[in-house]
Amino acid sequence: MATKTKTQEPVEATGVEDSALNELFVDELKDIYWAEKHLTKALAKMAKNATSDELRQALETHMTETEGQIARLEQVFESIGEKASAKKCEAMEGLIKEGEEIMKDTEDGTITRDVGIISAAQKAEHYEIASYGTLKTLASTLGYNEAADLLAQTLEEEKKTDDLLTQIAEGNINQSAKSEKK
Ligand code: FE
Ligand code: FE
Ligand code: FE
Repeated sequence: MATKTKTQEPVEATGVEDSALNELFVDELKDIYWAEKHLTKALAKMAKNATSDELRQALETHMTETEGQIARLEQVFESIGEKASAKKCEAMEGLIKEGEEIMKDTEDGTITRDVGIISAAQKAEHYEIASYGTLKTLASTLGYNEAADLLAQTLEEEKKTDDLLTQIAEGNINQSAKSEKK
């Protein structure tokens, strides 16, 4: 009878740890970890620059939520036996830069600035929605069920934030901005 060589794998191993896909997944996790950390500061700045209370509150709420998402990402890293580390996300850096430009190019205390801030914030949220959608699916593919659950929770928060920002814009912000002169 042929004997098989036993492989030495940790108990929780899914057998994918040395795959290229796993490496890609971990790299993408590091990317969104960097993005979330920098977005927290950007959201705080956007909230400070917002004119309407409604928008300021929404941004502050999401800033707190984002801090929770950072902690959740640390749980994701832990659940797959990786050390949490950040890798610069070029896209989020660019999106944040654009948001800063919008704030510079619009007048303080105007609703037009709010329209610009919503636009910048939604671009960042859409990047996150795409990232977490991919990460959640990859986690499932790789057999990381706990990570997939955690990533799905954050994905829902990002979608909810995006919807809320649309509601705020369509509620009265966009209409109010129409009457502001340049
Ligand atoms: Fe986030
Ligand atoms: Fe990125
Ligand atoms: Fe977000």
